[in-house]
Amino acid sequence: MTNKPALLWLREDLRFDDNPAMRAAAESGRPVICVYILDDDTPGDQKMGAAQRWWLHHSLTAFKDDLKTRDGKLVLRRADPRAIIPALVEETGAEAVFWNRRYMPWQTEVDSDIKAGLKDDDIEVTTCNGRLLYEPWEIKTKSGDPYRVFTPFWKSMQAMGDVRDALPRVDALKAPSKTPSTDRLSDWDLLPTKPDWAKGFGPVWTPGEKAARARLRNWLKGAAADYADLRNRPDRDGTSRLSPHLHFGEISPVTVWHAVKEAIDKGTVPHKQGDTYLSEIAWREFSYELIYNNPKMFDEPLQEKFANFEWHKDKNALEAWQQGKTGYPIVDAGMRQLWTEGWMHNRVRMIVGSFLIKDLGIDWREGMAWFWDTLVDADPANNTAQWQWVAGCGADAQPFFRIFNPTSQAEKFDPEGDYIRKYVPELKDLPKKYIHAPEKAPDEVLEKAGITLGDTYPEPIVDHAKQREEALSRYNDIK
Ligand SMILES: Cc1cc2nc3c(=O)[nH]c(=O)nc-3n(C[C@H](O)[C@H](O)[C@H](O)COP(=O)(O)OP(=O)(O)OC[C@H]3O[C@@H](n4cnc5c(N)ncnc54)[C@H](O)[C@@H]3O)c2cc1C
Repeated sequence: MTNKPALLWLREDLRFDDNPAMRAAAESGRPVICVYILDDDTPGDQKMGAAQRWWLHHSLTAFKDDLKTRDGKLVLRRADPRAIIPALVEETGAEAVFWNRRYMPWQTEVDSDIKAGLKDDDIEVTTCNGRLLYEPWEIKTKSGDPYRVFTPFWKSMQAMGDVRDALPRVDALKAPSKTPSTDRLSDWDLLPTKPDWAKGFGPVWTPGEKAARARLRNWLKGAAADYADLRNRPDRDGTSRLSPHLHFGEISPVTVWHAVKEAIDKGTVPHKQGDTYLSEIAWREFSYELIYNNPKMFDEPLQEKFANFEWHKDKNALEAWQQGKTGYPIVDAGMRQLWTEGWMHNRVRMIVGSFLIKDLGIDWREGMAWFWDTLVDADPANNTAQWQWVAGCGADAQPFFRIFNPTSQAEKFDPEGDYIRKYVPELKDLPKKYIHAPEKAPDEVLEKAGITLGDTYPEPIVDHAKQREEALSRYNDIK
């Protein structure tokens, strides 16, 4: 076996467990040079958002530490990978390059260019699937087309047979005789400084593979048993909160899938609860399938009839939404959870999305961009597919005319108002009867709770019933 090294180009796969490209590099018997490239050049509008950068800093730190225990060193570089990878190959004399595949259009373009160039130079290139259960081109309708509706997609996915086994952890990588120079992570300025708007993230999140595995373990021991019943309750800690770990590839969907299956088989997680969770993992697969096959979805509605929909351009309303000052407590709680923790409960994501699009009449792309910048789990496939779903213009979307009433949604899913009280503390002393609609509270109740509407907490910025009618009439114009 040649002693010439191989490059392992890490991207959204910062882990040692079930990492097919890392495994293949290790098994090649070559010394392995691990590289991570911060690419702000090729993604265009999909450049990594600010909250994700916070996560990335900590995730890379955790990965570097884990690599050190295996006597490895992570090489960090920043620029267009089309320049970096060939230059590193030349500098190190590498004869092989390994990576796990990515699926967004700008990513596949870059990867194909690099692969073609390397092959021309007789460099061996090995690419693997480390991100999804199935490739986005694998699950097809009977006529050979990609699916556009979730339920048949999910049925077809289940008919694919068993998901492949998770690969064992890589415990050792053969060290190269010389490691190329690396950027200093601190020089990448991934963390906010003044002001440190991400100071609320640390107490809630621990990025890195070990933390991802611990989160999965703890959730399986606890809330998983009631997942289907509690997953819509933002006031209860019922979901797995694995989304940023899955996004950064600190844990693989294959690992998660088998862990949940095993818990179902052992009877520690009831079938109904576990199967519902597996179907959510399948929604992630469906989003990737959609975007891979409809790459224009990033900025164009999938349903053409929405192309000329008239959106409102209302800067004040948009800012009130972003800052959690709409006067609708559940919307404000969600937007403030997003700002302070970099994450929002799924049910509330749907409520705030519907409010932006249907109550405020603002373009779903504004919401998508805000989420992109503020979510630690911001994922190009999930974020895009889900915003189009809420707007009613995507595949298998909620119909535009189904408009969430933010007050009744809050009454149903945050019945005691605990979620609202946590994130909108100025309302914490309001009795349950008025917590979902403070504007309906009598003056003496407001006074006793220390609330002056329009001063300590906003009046509703729009009237939901009126906005609903307006949204429906604009929808009728394009129907
Ligand atoms: C407007 C909007 C924007 C969204 N943007 C993103 C995003 O950028 N990144 C992201 O990962 N999810 C996004 N979602 C989907 C969903 O809200 C999150 O995946 C979920 O809240 C993450 O929390 P969890 O890990 O506790 O989920 P769990 O309920 O524990 O689900 C487990 C995993 O399944 C996947 N999943 C769950 N729900 C969905 C869904 N509806 N669509 C696709 N995958 C799903 C996620 O990977 C999640 O981690 C968005 C939803 C909406 C309505």
